[in-house]
Amino acid sequence: MPQLKYLPNVSTLQLDRGKCNGCGICLQVCPHAVFVFEAKKAAITDRDACMECGACAGNCPQGALSVRAGVGCAYAIILARLRGTEPDCGCGDSQTCC
Ligand code: SF4
Ligand code: SF4
Repeated sequence: MPQLKYLPNVSTLQLDRGKCNGCGICLQVCPHAVFVFEAKKAAITDRDACMECGACAGNCPQGALSVRAGVGCAYAIILARLRGTEPDCGCGDSQTCC
């Protein structure tokens, strides 16, 4: 899948690297490869690729991540209305998302 981008500089994703223990869960669950490892801790490589699904924050055992989930879906719905297509935020869950 091509790397999707959302509105620039609006993602609410925040990472407190001081709390990160380097478990790597956020790298595993993020569908848009927003994170990389730097010096044995997670780092945000492209904040604008975040669709605010909340998977990283919901699975981080250290509470190092926060994001206001759902904004990516709202954007997908607005874009779909404009285009006359079905909404797709990119998470792959067409049953419960958007
Ligand atoms: S899930 Fe949390 S603790 Fe684990 S690497 Fe990511 S930010 Fe760090
Ligand atoms: S909210 Fe979702 S898309 Fe954004 S960084 Fe976390 S897992 Fe990735």
